[in-house]
Amino acid sequence: MYCINCGVRLCDTEKKCPLCNTVVYHPDIKQKDVTPLYPVNKYPKQKPPSRTFNGAVLFLFLIPVIISFISDMKVNGRVTWFGFVAGAMGLFYVAFALPLWFQKPNPVIFVPVNFGAIAIYLAYINFAINGDWFISFALPVTAGIGLIITTLVTLTRYIKKGWLYIFGGCVIGFGAFMLLVEWLLVLTFGISFYGWSFYPLVAFVLLGGMLIYLGINKSAREIMERKLFF
Ligand SMILES: [Zn+2]
Repeated sequence: MYCINCGVRLCDTEKKCPLCNTVVYHPDIKQKDVTPLYPVNKYPKQKPPSRTFNGAVLFLFLIPVIISFISDMKVNGRVTWFGFVAGAMGLFYVAFALPLWFQKPNPVIFVPVNFGAIAIYLAYINFAINGDWFISFALPVTAGIGLIITTLVTLTRYIKKGWLYIFGGCVIGFGAFMLLVEWLLVLTFGISFYGWSFYPLVAFVLLGGMLIYLGINKSAREIMERKLFF
């Protein structure tokens, strides 16, 4: 038996064409129970995350951490460089291994979590070496970049349209952020204000403005697409 609409081969018990959903009815064929020709679910089911595998990955991360702790204690009698190793390993774990525990890791959550981990690590380095650059420089810069990237990821994930506007807006935001970076550098390290940040600001505003212009102007967008892809 074949579908009268699209012609695909059908099993005798099929009530609907699995391809085009046309109702199947053949008065001469008695409907009996046989296994369908096509699987019921079009997509294979996703496997849940494997605890054994993830536990093994965690163990592999812990081995160098434990070895560093033991050698630091043996050589120096207290924690010196161990904290840097442990922090770096922790950052790697959060970025690459932590999402494995989740069936569908959501980047809207994982991106800020990663920036939070980076901020904690930088705070540790700052206080371990008695620096005074964390609060006034590293924290606001990490938070600023994290905020821009989280905004970008969130908007592109939940709004399916207007990507040119979203990217354009974020690029301009990044340019404006450069001014803040220069100001924080001046504030933290006591260097004089040169105004170098205006150059990346202008470049980013032009680039972001071009993306937004392409979003507004359909014919310009089509010309660009033709130039870039054909
Ligand atoms: Zn069909």
